[in-house]
Amino acid sequence: MNQYEVVIIGAGIVGATTACALGEAGVRVALIEARPLVPDLDNGMRDARVFAITRASQQIFAALDVWDRIIARGAYPFREMEVWDAGGTGVIHFDCAEIGEPCLGHMIEPRIIQAALLDRLHSLAGVSLFCPAQLRDITIDADAARLVLEEDTTLTADLVIAADGARSPLRERLGIPVRTHDYHQSSLAARVATEFPHHATARQRFLPGGPLAFLPMEEGWSSIVWTLPAAEVAGVLALEREDFHAALGQAFDFRLGRIIDSERREAYPLKRLHAEHYVSERVALVGDAAHAIHPLAGQGVNLGLLDAAALTEVILDARGHGRDPGALLVLRRYERWRRGENLLMMSAMDGFNTLFGDQPGPVCRLRNFGLSMVNAFEPAKNLFMRHAAGLAGDLPALARVSMDSSCAGTLPKT
Ligand SMILES: Cc1cc2nc3c(=O)[nH]c(=O)nc-3n(C[C@H](O)[C@H](O)[C@H](O)COP(=O)(O)OP(=O)(O)OC[C@H]3O[C@@H](n4cnc5c(N)ncnc54)[C@H](O)[C@@H]3O)c2cc1C
Repeated sequence: MNQYEVVIIGAGIVGATTACALGEAGVRVALIEARPLVPDLDNGMRDARVFAITRASQQIFAALDVWDRIIARGAYPFREMEVWDAGGTGVIHFDCAEIGEPCLGHMIEPRIIQAALLDRLHSLAGVSLFCPAQLRDITIDADAARLVLEEDTTLTADLVIAADGARSPLRERLGIPVRTHDYHQSSLAARVATEFPHHATARQRFLPGGPLAFLPMEEGWSSIVWTLPAAEVAGVLALEREDFHAALGQAFDFRLGRIIDSERREAYPLKRLHAEHYVSERVALVGDAAHAIHPLAGQGVNLGLLDAAALTEVILDARGHGRDPGALLVLRRYERWRRGENLLMMSAMDGFNTLFGDQPGPVCRLRNFGLSMVNAFEPAKNLFMRHAAGLAGDLPALARVSMDSSCAGTLPKT
């Protein structure tokens, strides 16, 4: 009864998407999630942290019949992006029209993506959801992986996928080493209302302590990600409402006027993490279990979704050729594919974070010159834009599926 081709540990956005992709292709999947999943959105609590979802991720969701379920619950496209340096005059401006796309991405609450995925999972006969449930024990044998859950349920699988987040208990249990780096920064997330409209433009100002992003939600409201030195974040969290509004408006150089309203604030300490191996015999890591990245370009989930799509492709290919999808030789293809791509993005984020941090005058002048140069040089600018929209690199088939390229119907009312 409890024999599966694939068991996935963790039904966060990446794990649940992997289950949808495999389930839709007819793979027998068990999905194990420790926390109770809220089936819908009736608790009325909006997420403080909102994700920028790239065009490539949109394509993955569309291919899996999840996108319309997201749109029905709420997503906000952004068509332009503006990035500038608080320490100079350098500015870069992106417009989706320059790369022939109807938008650069969408801002979406994680709870909305989770609810849409859960809805889709319930319609897939081949996917069994064990929730709330936790892994107690795992043994990897030559022919299968054997898993025991806390309530004594036993499962076997050809392949186990760890999608259990940056702290990944499964990765730890298997002793897969990681490289980590503490940024000594935290990101404060909140939803705020501004005096001036955002016109569906994502904006980011680089300050010496870290970037401050205003990401467009319904007109008049933005989701902010304010990265600060770790020692300063508790003070900003504790500020009285009016003082917080004043400090935030000032930090953003009043680009959208005064802050006139705000919802609850949350802080996330930032750490880079990269697993030295994404695979071992009968095990593959996806999403934050494999890599946690600085949020300055909002790429973490998006990279995880590309992992999910790439791993699905590798598994289906092996299955189609009668090969064991849990064999290390098969899984190595996934590792080769995704580890390099993720490392590239991580290094780029680290480079930006350092370059735009507290730097001496000559570096400051150089980076401002660089920003203006990229802004003026169309091929370089297009390349940046395609990367930001997730349209560059070696994309898995699910992320390339052609879809309705329009963003109409999801535009926030202005
Ligand atoms: C401030 C901030 C802003 C960000 N903004 C963006 C953005 O705009 N765009 C973007 O793409 N990314 C963004 N990210 C990154 C994003 O948050 C992560 O990349 C993403 O949440 C990782 O998803 P995941 O499914 O891999 O892991 P998680 O979301 O951590 O999910 C892991 C799941 O596994 C479950 N689990 C854990 N252990 C067990 C166990 N033993 N048994 C069963 N289940 C278990 C957990 O309950 C959880 O549901 C941001 C991050 C930060 C900090």
